[in-house]
Amino acid sequence: MDDLNVIIHDNYTRIQNRIDAACQRAQRDPQSVRLVAVTKYARLEWVQALVELGCLDLGESRTPQLEERATLLSPELRWHFIGPLQRNKVRRTIAHCNLIHSVDSLKLLQAIDRIAGESEFKPEVLIEVNLAGEASKKGFSRESLTAEWESLCQVSHVKIAGLMTMAPHVEDRELARPVFRELRELRDELQQCSPEHVSLQELSMGMSGDFETGIEEGATLVRVGSALYEGLESSD
Ligand SMILES: *Cc1c(COP(=O)(O)O)cnc(C)c1O
Repeated sequence: MDDLNVIIHDNYTRIQNRIDAACQRAQRDPQSVRLVAVTKYARLEWVQALVELGCLDLGESRTPQLEERATLLSPELRWHFIGPLQRNKVRRTIAHCNLIHSVDSLKLLQAIDRIAGESEFKPEVLIEVNLAGEASKKGFSRESLTAEWESLCQVSHVKIAGLMTMAPHVEDRELARPVFRELRELRDELQQCSPEHVSLQELSMGMSGDFETGIEEGATLVRVGSALYEGLESSD
């Protein structure tokens, strides 16, 4: 193996081990947590090295790079869209991805629903929640989500599979804990008042700085980028 493959292998293995250890602490089945390797800043060779290691869930935050890579790399990969999604890019985006983590408005969900209605394909999405109320972050506030939940549940060509959030203060993973716990509790509350066809199994919470906390609080998806590429030079 050359340097690049050794570094990626070691980083990936270390993160998998940390995921397993967090699952053990939380008495959770490691199979219940999926690692989404965020590749938005990664060079193509790095992504290929991850794929060779069996890392098949990849996350991109911009439609052009998602399209390019989804077209180029193995069709077996499961692409996750994690960035702000403009309504005029919905068609191109859902054509390539398995799960959109970042639905941040009713209008966006309705746009996805309308476009999905033109085909048999039923995209899966998560609703992004901004629990810390940071102006720099997208997503529903707790209040707006509760108020609009009934309308959100009315879409018929999209499957709402759960919630996503980003915690502030990623440098201290304990500070993320109350935010992640609140997301889980909000999910439980919303599930109570959802129609039967809506099942909120997924919680996407945790990044390089706080994914273990996310797992301890019930994450089913962690979105890890920079920790996978430690020791490599970024392309820009
Ligand atoms: C970039 C990004 C990540 C990955 O962040 P790292 O700190 O590099 O692990 C996760 N989630 C979202 C929404 C992102 O934009």
